[in-house]
Amino acid sequence: MAFERRGGAAVLRVVSEYGTRDGLPVAEKYDFLAGDGVPLRLTRYAGGTKGPVLLVHGAGVWSGMFMLPTLKENFVQYLVRHGYDTWLLDWRASVQLPLRQFSLDDAADYDMPAAVRRMREITGAESVQAVVHCAGSAAFFMSLAAGHLPDVRSVVASQVALHHDVPKSTRFKALLRVPELLDLGLDSLTSDDATSTPLFQAAFSKVSGLLRMECDSPVCHRLSFMYGRLYRHSRLNRETHSRLEEQFGRCNLMTFRHLGQMARVGHAVRYDHGRVGNLLRYGQARPPDYLDPAPFKRPITFISGEKNQTYLPSSTERTFAWLREANGARYYQRLVLPGCGHIDTFMGSTASEDTYPVLREALEFQPRAS
Ligand SMILES: [Zn+2]
Repeated sequence: MAFERRGGAAVLRVVSEYGTRDGLPVAEKYDFLAGDGVPLRLTRYAGGTKGPVLLVHGAGVWSGMFMLPTLKENFVQYLVRHGYDTWLLDWRASVQLPLRQFSLDDAADYDMPAAVRRMREITGAESVQAVVHCAGSAAFFMSLAAGHLPDVRSVVASQVALHHDVPKSTRFKALLRVPELLDLGLDSLTSDDATSTPLFQAAFSKVSGLLRMECDSPVCHRLSFMYGRLYRHSRLNRETHSRLEEQFGRCNLMTFRHLGQMARVGHAVRYDHGRVGNLLRYGQARPPDYLDPAPFKRPITFISGEKNQTYLPSSTERTFAWLREANGARYYQRLVLPGCGHIDTFMGSTASEDTYPVLREALEFQPRAS
């Protein structure tokens, strides 16, 4: 496949670095390798004795999504203020790392277990907690389902876990059709004005411009085209909206394609290499799924934005119902955030008052007595 050969060659510019922030301890940076040798990074803010808690970002972004400089108080500042030893993971989807082609299976098999192991080595903790978002949550749950994360004691899953329900417009526009049509030497989709693919970007901007838009930001329009509506405009402050390009970047097409496959099937499956490829790799014509409930007997909170138009709230509802059915109700809870969209759960201007307290309480959630 053309895009796979090109994958990994392009190195994304560094969008930005973490600056010094009020109320935060000095950042500790740990570069480490995933199980297959891909370089990853953990950034720690040692905020106290709670946790340690691992934060896992989505696709096409980086861990900066938890640390916006444009908010009165961002999620990392909030957790540190509440005494959490807070760890940000830049896994292989991070726009701060070199672009490469990968499936979410790779992240599940190699990134998540290595990150948890590294955290435990450094902290000496027996177990860790995790707050995981979007494609990062999908990959984390695949890793859990595969039995790779026995030392994660509780999880807060934002927007999606093992079941994938996307709006029809996303299904046909962004997740499926675009990657299929664009398998013509392109290796990524980006929301910024990438100069390497001017023709594609021009066409992309044109199509995006036809969608009903609430603002005049081309970056914002391209993001909506790629992912569905990622946020409710009313929940972002002006500065966050005008600096979106600092948070978002390129997403490789193989990951887009894998997300599209899962949206079509409706739940987490290994990457579909086609009949012949599947027989070779998996010994069966269809890719195996990740629907094993056995490794999930631990406290898990599912959270969806009520107005999410990237992953519909029914996504977490289905994983929640499936796990309750299989393992009993005591381990699980599900919360719907009124008026919230997708990523404004973390980026919203009032998040420190409305959504972060919900996430923090979810970190304290204990299984109910059976
Ligand atoms: Zn906008």
